[in-house]
Amino acid sequence: MALRSLQDVQPLEFRGVEPGMPVIIAGPCSAESERQTLDAARALSAIGVTVFRAGIWKPRTMPGGFEGIGDRGLAWLQAVRRETGMMVATEVATIEHVHAALGAGIDILWIGARTSTNPFAMQDIANELRGHREVTVLVKNPLNPDLDLWIGALQRIRNAGITRLGAVHRGFSSAGEHIYRNNPQWHIPFELRRLAPTMTILCDPSHIGGKRRYIEPLSQIALDTGFDGLMIESHCHPDEALSDSAQQVTPDALRGILERLVVRSGAPIEDELSLLRQQIDDCDHELLAVLARRMSVSREIGRFKKAHNLRVVQPARYQDMINARLDEGDSLGLQSDFTQRVMQAIHEESVRQQLDLL
Ligand code: PEP
Ligand code: MN
Repeated sequence: MALRSLQDVQPLEFRGVEPGMPVIIAGPCSAESERQTLDAARALSAIGVTVFRAGIWKPRTMPGGFEGIGDRGLAWLQAVRRETGMMVATEVATIEHVHAALGAGIDILWIGARTSTNPFAMQDIANELRGHREVTVLVKNPLNPDLDLWIGALQRIRNAGITRLGAVHRGFSSAGEHIYRNNPQWHIPFELRRLAPTMTILCDPSHIGGKRRYIEPLSQIALDTGFDGLMIESHCHPDEALSDSAQQVTPDALRGILERLVVRSGAPIEDELSLLRQQIDDCDHELLAVLARRMSVSREIGRFKKAHNLRVVQPARYQDMINARLDEGDSLGLQSDFTQRVMQAIHEESVRQQLDLL
């Protein structure tokens, strides 16, 4: 029941974007001054960007930082639209933001990752949006890797009668040091795509990567995996930006990135591709059959351990097994961290099955 309401969300259309081509939304993390906002917009419009983004209410982790220019920025966004003809987008996080942004005729409102984690905030925003069919609403994924929370946030907006609805993947917070600022966990937006096949899903490589050098490779992955467009942060003087300076690119750098990105066809060349897909299906059948056989051997071992009062986990055996599999995987050309993750998952399930017997 829940799924049905996203299954029929229709793709967003953006003026000036040809069918099959990705929409590019670009602009600074924050609108800082009228000059900075308009300079960025003019430069982006000149390289063919048709949708401009800028945050005016900024959710910051610590108080006392730059928390956005506030309502004053709405007039700057209106000026961008007037001067360049671009559509304009900004983040809303409260009822007041929605009210002010709708009043100013902002074309696209996006709901940030800190807000989409909170069902109360989402419901307030949805109530305020009710009946505004002219506006486009984009919902970023929540900070935590919880697909249902993301779907729930989208559904609240949808249930308020908003039909121009899309999602933005910006990665997920995770503890510890990682290459990327936010872990992409691509399987989550892929699952969203499966559940909402026609809904527009964009990727925000700037907030995933956290550093400007990651924008291009992440964008290419996004285009190759069926995202409908990109939201990229761009500032004329990124190093002086008041927020997210490390991940912003100049409009000129963005032009280079966009020129190099390869847009591949979404329509498969059926025969060849379906043969290859058949091979994948066959491999998966074999994999599952082998896994089932392995688990049945594992349960037999479990019964033996139980009968002889042995512990389920024998660390020395586990260590030997992992080492042997890593060597074998390596000689087969598999990445060792991949082999390790797979073997750990299999072992974990084996242990669970053996524990169940006790
Ligand atoms: C932003 O787009 O500037 C922003 C704050 O994004 P997120 O909610 O993805 O962190
Ligand atoms: Mn930002």
